[in-house]
Amino acid sequence: MSKPKSYIPVTIDPHASDAHSGDVEKCSRCTGTICCTYTTQAVPTPRGRDDFQHLLWQLAHENIQAYKDEDGWFLLINNRCRFLGKDGRCGIYHSRPDVCREYSNDYCELDERAEDNFELFFDGYESLLAYCRKRYKNWDQK
Ligand code: SF4
Ligand code: SF4
Repeated sequence: MSKPKSYIPVTIDPHASDAHSGDVEKCSRCTGTICCTYTTQAVPTPRGRDDFQHLLWQLAHENIQAYKDEDGWFLLINNRCRFLGKDGRCGIYHSRPDVCREYSNDYCELDERAEDNFELFFDGYESLLAYCRKRYKNWDQK
C-alpha cells in the first residue's frame, strides 16, 4: 500500500513524554487508528498456477486478503494489534516495535486510503479464484 509505501502501523500518543515529531493531534483525530488494525507481508510475485494455488490457500484463511501495488504483491492481514487500546492508544507505547516508532503520520491513511494505490486487490478466496479463472482459461481442468 503505497500510501502506504510503508503500510505500517504507528500511533503517536500526544500524552507521551517522548512523543516524536509529527502532528500529535492528527492521530487523536483518527478514531479508527487505522494503521494499527492490520499488518502486511510481501510475497513473491505469483508466476504460475502453483503460485496462485498457494495464494488461494492463504486467502482461504479468515481475515487474509492480497493486493498488488507498485512495490509488488502483499498479503494483507486484517487483525488489529493486540496492544491497541479501545481508546486508540498504544498499550506498549514506550517499548513498541521500531517499525511503529519510525513511521511518520505526515501522510498516512487518514490522508489517502491505501486501497487507492492498489493495482490489484483480492478481498478473499472467491475474488482471487475468479482472477485465476480469467487468467488461466483451463484453470478448472486438472
Ligand atoms: S492512520 Fe495516520 S492518523 Fe491514524 S493513527 Fe495511523 S498514523 Fe495516526
Ligand atoms: S505496538 Fe502500538 S503503535 Fe504498534 S501497531 Fe500495536 S498499537 Fe500500534
